[in-house]
Amino acid sequence: MDLEEKLGILTNAAKYDVSCASSGASRKGAKGGVGNAAASGICHSWTSDGRCVSLLKLLYTNACMYDCSYCVNRRSNDVPRASFTPQEVAGLTMAFYRRNMIEGLFLSSAVAISADRTMERLIRVAEILRNREHFGGYIHMKVIPGASRRLVERLGYLADRVSVNIEFPTDQELSLMAPDKTPEGIRSNMLSVRDRKLELLPSLFRGSRPPAFVPAGQSTQMILGAGNSDDREVLNKAESLYQMMGMKRVYYSAYVPVNLPLEEAIRVRTPLLREHRVYQADWLMRFYGFQAREILGERRFLDQKVDPKAAWAVDNFHLFPLDVNTAPREMLLRVPGLGPRAVQRILQARRLAAISYDSLAKTGAVMKRARHFITAQGRRPHLLTDDPGRVYRALAGEDKDAFRQLSFLDTV
Ligand code: SF4
Repeated sequence: MDLEEKLGILTNAAKYDVSCASSGASRKGAKGGVGNAAASGICHSWTSDGRCVSLLKLLYTNACMYDCSYCVNRRSNDVPRASFTPQEVAGLTMAFYRRNMIEGLFLSSAVAISADRTMERLIRVAEILRNREHFGGYIHMKVIPGASRRLVERLGYLADRVSVNIEFPTDQELSLMAPDKTPEGIRSNMLSVRDRKLELLPSLFRGSRPPAFVPAGQSTQMILGAGNSDDREVLNKAESLYQMMGMKRVYYSAYVPVNLPLEEAIRVRTPLLREHRVYQADWLMRFYGFQAREILGERRFLDQKVDPKAAWAVDNFHLFPLDVNTAPREMLLRVPGLGPRAVQRILQARRLAAISYDSLAKTGAVMKRARHFITAQGRRPHLLTDDPGRVYRALAGEDKDAFRQLSFLDTV
């Protein structure tokens, strides 16, 4: 099989892994080396379905000895198989990089022979790139579930980011869908990365510069809709991964049932809207100070009609309206239509003078959404409804005139 054929098979086989954003690393170009991974030098591009394509994204091999029910590469599937050699992957990466077509490499792999044997192959690719080609670009590699700590650590000194895919929020679901993987093996891989990073922290504080270990941190991915878990389990798991494992990113992938006939697959595939809502909720946890249990309230699944922040604000309508001149930052961040930048501008502006309602749009606030939840110096359009049901419908785009009925006493 020639290289082009392998490339066709193994890039196609890699497309279902979404844990591959290239942000977060900063490596200067070295004299005599090629490329750099400075944050400003890395850009992203995304396909229409949200997959990152700025990296050369490959599987090392798709000849898998495992039989995960959700995966196209499982051993029981009759699909064309191919494997690269470490030299081939390194050569392809350099060729694409020199043509300015990629920012770096995202390399994953099926499990061939054993987790450790596969990891050794991936490490070899990274060694050739870093030590022989002096490649300073971005490298993101997959840790093979269950690989030994020694190998995970070796890889961590070569790659900018590693990902250990947890796939499902509960151990039971993982065991059911991926019987050859163990939750303990995946946790142990994550802990290897977390612990080594923690061990290196004291020397950073002392001012010495230890060799970079996974500088862009670790990430993982969860598949939505392949099993029975709800959004509550997904977000709770993501929250614990951020807090306990020092996870940099959790990626989510709406399940595409690749092992079913096409018509059935289209019928039962997880809607992309679910993935979108979970990403929005994840964003709230990382940048807006929300906890998973607050986002969902009594729900098992996120509201489909409005985004999670709007749903939370309507559920907690009694906490509003907030006066933008006095409300604390953490509450302003909870107003639909106010992002971190708008909140920052509000905080800066109100230090100098009271903000008027009419000047709020200048802060970047999306007033069409925020107007239901804020006042300025006690002022807001007095015809806005106080009925949370109507506010919900307005935010869902179902009630374009969410204003209360005029009474005879109202003046416009
Ligand atoms: S280990 Fe499972 S998910 Fe990974 S390639 Fe093999 S069958 Fe697919």
